[in-house]
Amino acid sequence: MSTISKILIANRGEIALRVLRACKELGIASVAVHSTADANAMHVRLADESVCIGPPPSRESYLNIHQIVAACEITGADAVHPGYGFLSENAKFAEILEAHGITFIGPTAEHIRLMGDKITAKQTAQELGIPVVPGSDGEVRPDNALEIARKIGYPVLIKATAGGGGRGMKVAKTEEDLMEAFNTARTEAAAAFGNDAVYMEKYLEKPRHIEVQVFGDGAGNAIHLGERDCSLQRRHQKVLEEANSPALNVEQRMKIGQICADAMKKLKYRGAGTIEFLYENGEFYFIEMNTRLQVEHPVTEAITGIDLVNEQIRVASGAGLSVTQDEVVFHGHAIECRINAEDPRNFTPSPGTITHFHAPGGLGVRVDSGAYAGYKIPPYYDSLIGKLIVHGRTRVECMMRLRRVLDEFVIDGIKTTLPLFQDLITNPDIANGDYDIHWLEKYLANKQD
Ligand code: ADP
Repeated sequence: MSTISKILIANRGEIALRVLRACKELGIASVAVHSTADANAMHVRLADESVCIGPPPSRESYLNIHQIVAACEITGADAVHPGYGFLSENAKFAEILEAHGITFIGPTAEHIRLMGDKITAKQTAQELGIPVVPGSDGEVRPDNALEIARKIGYPVLIKATAGGGGRGMKVAKTEEDLMEAFNTARTEAAAAFGNDAVYMEKYLEKPRHIEVQVFGDGAGNAIHLGERDCSLQRRHQKVLEEANSPALNVEQRMKIGQICADAMKKLKYRGAGTIEFLYENGEFYFIEMNTRLQVEHPVTEAITGIDLVNEQIRVASGAGLSVTQDEVVFHGHAIECRINAEDPRNFTPSPGTITHFHAPGGLGVRVDSGAYAGYKIPPYYDSLIGKLIVHGRTRVECMMRLRRVLDEFVIDGIKTTLPLFQDLITNPDIANGDYDIHWLEKYLANKQD
């Protein structure tokens, strides 16, 4: 067992702060890295040590592997937590760190690679007993597209093998639409990823997005921590997440959770992972696996009481999981709102200086944010400036608490998405948990009319 004594956090913003908090509670020394644009960021102030790794553009700083490895060597960090985004799903980064004798707090490079390619990920999931969306076995070529689409049944979705962020994805409702959608998807895929390979799936018309949190110790032991419902999305970006899903009962939860945990046992998966599904008419369909911590992990922490970053560090140091499946107990309900520095009407970024900042408090309230009055949000990175997580004994209690807390939250000087959540929380469909992945887009379109 290798003990970890100093962790370098290869990230910024609220997630860097989140990891830092876990390090402090474990008595592990922490190193922040930052670009010149982030010299005054909260994660830099609170870390034990900090290293400037380059100019503002991510490519030259947070994605600069040489600089990060050098920062480890300078500070003597023996492990790296990648957070999410940036280098968190970069297999090469994991390998380079290991080659330097530095522990990567995450899965093996092999598993990151396996799940990084969408076709291999889907085939692997199927082999591991995870239900997948019906579709082609691998790549579809122009000469067999019609035949495969007919077999799957319309509507079909054409997706880029190298896909990400919903690009290179096209729906064909009927056979007449097929070839045009197919060719557009290939052109888009080639432009976005330099690879025009596409595959085909049954298009689900009104699914929910439900994902299962898994954890493995790398030695064949794995558990699940229930699911999160992330159906409220805009342009395939999650906006609000909740645990548990209002659409599942206990039996469904435990069944899909067990399927995922068993799959991770077979894979000998190490660390935190999320298995994402579309869910429609009582059936789960695998879409992808993320081999990292997710933005929305706090809702799982709220209902299980388990610190997922602490657990990642335990596993990386060889200490294994702190709980067995039987010891995982779900308490109440949690909702997370992503607070972005964006105009709530059209979602354009709104960087600038925060003039006044007051975070809400009280029972069951958590704010993960590096923002403070006087903080200047740099324009170079994503617009997430904080997360508000509310927990209650029931979903109703949780919603009432969220309503109260949203009224207390003050962020002045910039535009934020807080008003959007104030609107959503009073909507009857949200109150009833009655929404699918298209709900929010439709709601926003109607509001503009
Ligand atoms: P990406 O990696 O580009 O984000 P995903 O496979 O994760 O692609 O899918 C992104 C989103 O596209 C999903 O959250 C869902 O909204 C939609 N989607 C993906 N596959 C299907 C499908 N078979 N039917 C309907 N919608 C889908």
